[in-house]
Amino acid sequence: MPRYDYRCLVCEVVFEAKHGFDDPPPPCPNGHSEVQRLITTTPRLLKGMAALASRSASKEELQAKWAEETPKLRKKLVEKLGEETVRKHGSTLGRADD
Ligand SMILES: [Zn+2]
Repeated sequence: MPRYDYRCLVCEVVFEAKHGFDDPPPPCPNGHSEVQRLITTTPRLLKGMAALASRSASKEELQAKWAEETPKLRKKLVEKLGEETVRKHGSTLGRADD
């Protein structure tokens, strides 16, 4: 069951809920149904790359980091989504395996 983060638009509490993809959003812990799903899927890898880039790392360092992290990220995606989904949608991640 996927996990989602929500913020209540009434009392602004942020909470996490597990439910199916097509299910309606759950009410907040205080019972309000006006909730908004938060987008929290920014991969940590990309944040790490951005941090490296802003420290003006060399192109070689960035490439090395990318080469080191990509197989790990792909493995995580495969664990979460399954090999087939990653194959279909993860073409930019799968280059190293091709
Ligand atoms: Zn609320």
